[in-house]
Order: sequence, then C-alpha cells, then structure tokens
Amino acid sequence: MAGQRWSRRWRPGRKPPTQPPLRQRVCVLCGAPFLARRSHARLCSALCRKRLERARQQERARMRLEAAWARWAQEDQGEPRENRP
Ligand SMILES: [Zn+2]
Repeated sequence: MAGQRWSRRWRPGRKPPTQPPLRQRVCVLCGAPFLARRSHARLCSALCRKRLERARQQERARMRLEAAWARWAQEDQGEPRENRP
C-alpha cells in the first residue's frame, strides 16, 4: 500500500512524511459526500467532473447565444456599431 512506500523512505531525524489528510466533502454537483485528497476537490468522481464540464460548455454556448441575441436586438433598435464589444 501507499503507507509502506512512505515508511520505506523515512529516515531518523527527518520529519516523517504524512499522507495528505482526507477531508469530508460534499460533491457540488450531485451532493454526495466523499473524501477529498486535495483541498480544492469539489466533485466526488470523474463522472461528476465530466458532467460539470459538459454543463459548463452548455453554459458557455448559452451565453454566446444570448450575446448574439442581444446584438441582434440592438441592431433592430438601430444602436450604433461603436457600442459593440
Ligand atoms: Zn458527484
């Protein structure tokens, strides 16, 4: 196990290496509790990571669409081109 590998490297006088503490977290996507090895972990599994990435892509696509709609609406109202981003 990982613990055996750690103990083999340990030498007297050195600070013994410690495993990163496991933190009890709740997945931001599905709400399931999980143990996070990294402090910034927010998702319980690779599946949720995938789902979040897909959701982000959809969000970006939606924002692009809304921005396009806003531009078209401005064109309908005869807004000057200089106001565009
Ligand atoms: Zn999850």
